Amino acid sequence: MLNPAATPTVTAATHGSDLTATVHTAAQAATVALIVIIAASLYLLGCLIWPFGKCRRCKGAGKFKSPFGRAYRHCGRCQGSGLRIRLGRHVINHLRAVHGAGENTTTSKGKR
Ligand SMILES: [Zn+2]
Repeated sequence: MLNPAATPTVTAATHGSDLTATVHTAAQAATVALIVIIAASLYLLGCLIWPFGKCRRCKGAGKFKSPFGRAYRHCGRCQGSGLRIRLGRHVINHLRAVHGAGENTTTSKGKR
């Protein structure tokens, strides 16, 4: 019996390219931008209400205990308060400082 084992089966594999979610249409881009804007505004609102977070170096304790006895020292980064001003609060402070300059949004400085 003769079995022709050499039967090349070329199967054109259809790769599902679901991982590369490319945004092509303008509607999708607008939707993504809207979601980003909403998330950013919610974050800024949160930073407006809760402007402080835990200090990252001392984890909100404000001080470092000595391994010997009961001595401790203040955290140098948060000045012993244990607080950290959140990133969004810096943005809000910056926006307020800019907004206080007036309603004129032109950036021309040379003219008087
Ligand atoms: Zn600290």
